[in-house]
Amino acid sequence: LPGDLYGEERANSKGLDLAQARVRASLAKAFRDFETAEPITAAPLVNGKLLDGAAHHIMSPVDSGEYVGTAVDASVDDVNAAFEIAIAAQPAWDARGGKARGAILRAMGDALEADMERLIVLMAREAGKTLNDGIAEVREAVDFCRYYAAQAEREFDSDVRLPGPAGETNHLGLKGRGVFVCISPWNFPLAIFTGQVAAALAAGNAVIAKPAEQTPLVAFEAVRLFQKAGLPASVLHFLPGTGEIIGAALTNDPRTQGVAFTGSTEVARAINRSLAARETAIAPLIAETGGLNGMFVDTTALREQVVDDAIMSAFGSAGQRCSALRIIFVPEDTADELIESLAGAMDELQLGDPMDPATDVGPVIDNEQRELLLRHMERMEAAAKVIKKIDDVELSERGFFFGPALVELPSLDMLDREVFGPILHVVRYKRRDVGAIARELAAKGYGLTLGIHSRLASFHRQIQSIVPAGNVYVNRNMVGAVVGVQPFGGEGLSGTGPKAGGPHYLHRFAGERTVTINI
Ligand code: GLU
Repeated sequence: LPGDLYGEERANSKGLDLAQARVRASLAKAFRDFETAEPITAAPLVNGKLLDGAAHHIMSPVDSGEYVGTAVDASVDDVNAAFEIAIAAQPAWDARGGKARGAILRAMGDALEADMERLIVLMAREAGKTLNDGIAEVREAVDFCRYYAAQAEREFDSDVRLPGPAGETNHLGLKGRGVFVCISPWNFPLAIFTGQVAAALAAGNAVIAKPAEQTPLVAFEAVRLFQKAGLPASVLHFLPGTGEIIGAALTNDPRTQGVAFTGSTEVARAINRSLAARETAIAPLIAETGGLNGMFVDTTALREQVVDDAIMSAFGSAGQRCSALRIIFVPEDTADELIESLAGAMDELQLGDPMDPATDVGPVIDNEQRELLLRHMERMEAAAKVIKKIDDVELSERGFFFGPALVELPSLDMLDREVFGPILHVVRYKRRDVGAIARELAAKGYGLTLGIHSRLASFHRQIQSIVPAGNVYVNRNMVGAVVGVQPFGGEGLSGTGPKAGGPHYLHRFAGERTVTINI
């Protein structure tokens, strides 16, 4: 890669090539080792000590009879204990400086890389992630650590000198804010968990992290790796539990100095309200939420490329990405051919166990998500046109599988909210109405990803000027933003910014201090 925004040489981590028999054999062995190893128990971890609590089994979305590990819920007392230790430890962590913190984050990147295969297997079982998704996820976690490490090293140890009159010096410096609460989602149980925590730590904060209820095991393993990398136990505490109890206790606590949250728009709003209701410090919320992401295709687009990119963006990761394509807008003149090609390409998608390298689409995360998708399809069957639905009957007897679906909407009125799964909606438009339909999408209020397929720069400009989006992808797929290459995050109902894996992210986790000295 060329240098990043600051012209620094920086390379992202390397992946694994599933086309190689050696790589596939090694992952199969990692799976056998995982099955015979001592199961993971993700217990609350405060100051390096494992705590007791109500335990429950984590079962696999691939097969609801498959035990993956055990989670132990934290209690409200644990929240209190974590804050006490974190508050006391944070100033010394901040005082260590950006270079020392960066070194630990780099060691964390190396530790993740060294444990890559086991983490991929764990995510395949706990979250139903395909092997390719697992590979990309470990890489993203590694890249977040190294990217934020580089920024901490570069920006947090040296104050910026500012102008002033004779006899006066002015300096501006960055520092940690205090205790940051990080609440992460199940769809990127390692990368987003690690990214939030690494950013907060890099900026000089102590962290209390709550993983998603569905995926505490891989997050627990990440915390173990942070410790192995040399992170003091007093600056990262791990509290699994529900959003209603542990999430709420963390965000209501007067000692919280900032929250990083990725999840639904509704929960982001609730967190915002609880932060605002406290009588203590006004704490920032960094929220990354959902999207109602569109791809606009015109008649100059290359059909094969559109099909490839739309299939990957809508059905990759079983559609469980907030960046995923939800609605493809196709011009009336070429709509029939395009829809036929999309439906044909869907026949090639292989639904199945994520450990099988041939699998394109794994299960959805749990029964609740599957039910939401089924209910949405009932509405679509009644009022729209279901063009294609991939069969999932056999697989659904064991796990939470949902075969990809293609649905033509008679109008955009029928879809106001994100539907989180492998359902792609199609809307036809007349060339002269493209502005109106783009405005209709914009009016829904989301602003995460936007796809455009066209060879006309004027079309790119027209769509971009109307549809809000944090990430715009022209003539390619619209998922899998790369750290330092496509800083990721949205606006409006899709989040507060700043963008993860971008140059401004750490600043939102940091405080700034101006020091003026008169000599
Ligand atoms: N960063 C991911 C992507 O670009 C999506 C993150 C999410 O779904 O929360 O696809």
